[in-house]
Amino acid sequence: MSDCIFCKIVAGSIPSNKVYEDDEVLAFHDINPTAPVHVLIIPKKHIATTLDFAPEEDDRLVGKLVTTATRLARELGIDQSGFRLVFNTHHDGGQEVYHVHLHLLGGREFTWPAG
Ligand code: IMP
Repeated sequence: MSDCIFCKIVAGSIPSNKVYEDDEVLAFHDINPTAPVHVLIIPKKHIATTLDFAPEEDDRLVGKLVTTATRLARELGIDQSGFRLVFNTHHDGGQEVYHVHLHLLGGREFTWPAG
């Protein structure tokens, strides 16, 4: 999508601080981190929200977003202390960027329930 900021990051027309990339997914540091570790893991293809994951067709891709996040959690040294994985969806979920992204957050203790 030409007006999608994360598609522009995938295309390289907007710079990002990448931590991982392959042909299907990209991970980069959040520009406005809310924790010492705040990485976004995205599919390279444009998918607007979690509601737009296609059952069956995207099942493996969704799994890959999660396993990429947990592998990065180990590599970034937050696997033992713990971390949080978050998909925000639509207004009440706090979604601001309409290209699906999995937040990997760690390096501090989070509260629950979510605010
Ligand atoms: P959301 O609220 O779940 O949609 O999260 C969007 C996230 O994208 C926020 O944490 C933003 O700080 C982050 N973000 C927005 N633009 C950029 C960018 O250009 N590079 C990296 N992160 C970004």
